[in-house]
Amino acid sequence: MTDAAAASPPAVPRATPTRWLTAEQLGPHFDDGGSIILIENHRVFRRRATHRQKAHLYLAALRHRARELGHRGELVTAESYEDALRERGLIGGALEMVGATSWAVRALAEQLEASILPDRGFVTAREEFASWAAEKKPSQLVMDRYYREVRQRTGILMEGDRPLGGQFSFDHDNRERPPKGAVTLGLPAPWAPLEDDIDVEVRETLDRLEREGMAFLGTDGPRRFAATRAEALAALDDFIETRLGDFGPYEDAMLAGDGVMAHSRLSVPMNLGLLHPLEIVERVVAEHAAGRAPLNSVEGLVRQLIGWRDWVWHLYWHLGPEYTTSSNALDARSRLPEEWWALDGAAIDAACLSHVMAQVRSEGWAHHIQRLMVLGNHALQRGYDPEELTRWFQGAFVDGTPWVMPANVVGMSQWADGGVVATKPYASGGAYIDRMSDFCGSCRFDPTKRLGPDACPFTAGYWAFLDRVEPRIRGNHRMAQPLAGLRRLADREQIVAQEAARSRY
Ligand SMILES: Cc1cc2nc3c(=O)[nH]c(=O)nc-3n(C[C@H](O)[C@H](O)[C@H](O)COP(=O)(O)OP(=O)(O)OC[C@H]3O[C@@H](n4cnc5c(N)ncnc54)[C@H](O)[C@@H]3O)c2cc1C
Ligand code: SF4
Repeated sequence: MTDAAAASPPAVPRATPTRWLTAEQLGPHFDDGGSIILIENHRVFRRRATHRQKAHLYLAALRHRARELGHRGELVTAESYEDALRERGLIGGALEMVGATSWAVRALAEQLEASILPDRGFVTAREEFASWAAEKKPSQLVMDRYYREVRQRTGILMEGDRPLGGQFSFDHDNRERPPKGAVTLGLPAPWAPLEDDIDVEVRETLDRLEREGMAFLGTDGPRRFAATRAEALAALDDFIETRLGDFGPYEDAMLAGDGVMAHSRLSVPMNLGLLHPLEIVERVVAEHAAGRAPLNSVEGLVRQLIGWRDWVWHLYWHLGPEYTTSSNALDARSRLPEEWWALDGAAIDAACLSHVMAQVRSEGWAHHIQRLMVLGNHALQRGYDPEELTRWFQGAFVDGTPWVMPANVVGMSQWADGGVVATKPYASGGAYIDRMSDFCGSCRFDPTKRLGPDACPFTAGYWAFLDRVEPRIRGNHRMAQPLAGLRRLADREQIVAQEAARSRY
């Protein structure tokens, strides 16, 4: 020790900052043991139409976490995140955050001069994606290439430098139709929590907000998804035990009597930060290693988690804050019909769409193919405004977060970015829905008909869509074949006129 150091007064230890955790950061991997502030902000429900069950889930998750944290945690109810933090002096060095969960949160963190730690809750770091994406044209940002690189870098499902089973993807094994004649996949009901006193209090809060004039989407119902770490782990165990084996083959299939199929529904606890995607990956890979789960199911799920989920997260930041509002490559300008905002399946004749809409109303959740090939496909064909559609999805789905929406809705389902996320528009006629589901059997429309009173709105809608966007997709070589089919259609004009005049779908 130098004399000078010995003479100086002992340094006053700097108070450790308080960490603000958002409702998407509630698991143990966001907690390093210090003081934590959680903010319950009801104004977000007023600003953005939200499903009642999503509001319930978020409040229940925050309140359960606050109870678990005990004296280390403070749960504040406020109308503004900024006011809540400033009022407590949580600015500058007094405030710490773990990454940011949206552009708006990042802007607020910068305004408050909070210290921002690296992101958690995803498999790959922002810098890893940035160095991979650097010098790539937007058309080269292909999920599958990123996924392979992550597999190689992490060694997940690899034997040395070779993918386990000899191939990176088992997608071709994972496109089975639903079993013939089946009403359900025959799996046990998906895991659901037992509500407790916190759920009772949350329901009272939401009832009061409704009495005060707040309008939620959808219906109230029992809480269906995990709101605590223990519940999330139970949901994961249940998925592995009852559904993992069937996950791969029936990934793309739909049944009217089985709204969940073999999907995990784990996006919900993952998006609340209660589960880390890597812990799911480790569990399912171990199941395969123990001979209890087939490789096509395990690889299929791993691709969703270390491929799609991370990919969509990184694209959110890579594509910038204006991506949603500035992307409209197909010039889609129609407002969403009233029945969409009312989630009113009964107002819709198309059995597939009516059914999925009713499920969203009663649960705030639908699986990927229902989202992409029924809801998204219909919206794409009818030219719904992608920005309004993004707001709809984010409000109506319990797992809807700001970061997950843009690439999925604007990019993948609406092709509004002109080909950054998806190489071609995900448009399909009724034949696809008929092949992959049992909806058409009970429908008043006929998937093979494109003209007449029973013309399927998806089949006719597909051709009317191609007719409308033809000039904008002519240069896309993957659309050459469908466009050639369109040009051969003898009844093209009648279909276009019929769909323009369609009032019931
Ligand atoms: C139009 C549209 C809207 C969507 N909205 C959301 C949303 O609000 N929240 C959300 O988390 N996902 C969303 N997705 C992606 C995907 O549909 C859901 O993650 C999945 O359906 C959630 O159900 P699950 O947990 O049973 O998924 P599983 O089929 O069991 O898949 C396992 C996990 O993979 C991840 N995953 C798979 N695909 C994607 C993807 N494209 N983007 C992000 N993660 C993915 C999810 O975390 C999911 O839990 C959307 C996709 C589309 C096309
Ligand atoms: S006939 Fe058309 S509208 Fe009816 S369920 Fe089949 S695809 Fe959907």
